[in-house]
Amino acid sequence: MAAMGAVRVLCGAEKERVVGTHKAPGACPRCGGAVVAVDVETERRILGLPLCVKSKRKFSCTKCLRRLVTLYG
Ligand SMILES: [Zn+2]
Repeated sequence: MAAMGAVRVLCGAEKERVVGTHKAPGACPRCGGAVVAVDVETERRILGLPLCVKSKRKFSCTKCLRRLVTLYG
């Protein structure tokens, strides 16, 4: 499996870094639990060189840990 890891690095691995989390309005459609918003920065590197950094916001349920993507886009 070490070889597969090397290939992945060469093709450009994505690294995710959590910038912060906050409470989001609304409730989980499945269990009604609280929704939390997580800001993550995705850094793409090719051959060790940083290409671009994208930041996005993910929403997930704190109770059932389900990802809530469609709800907030
Ligand atoms: Zn839930």
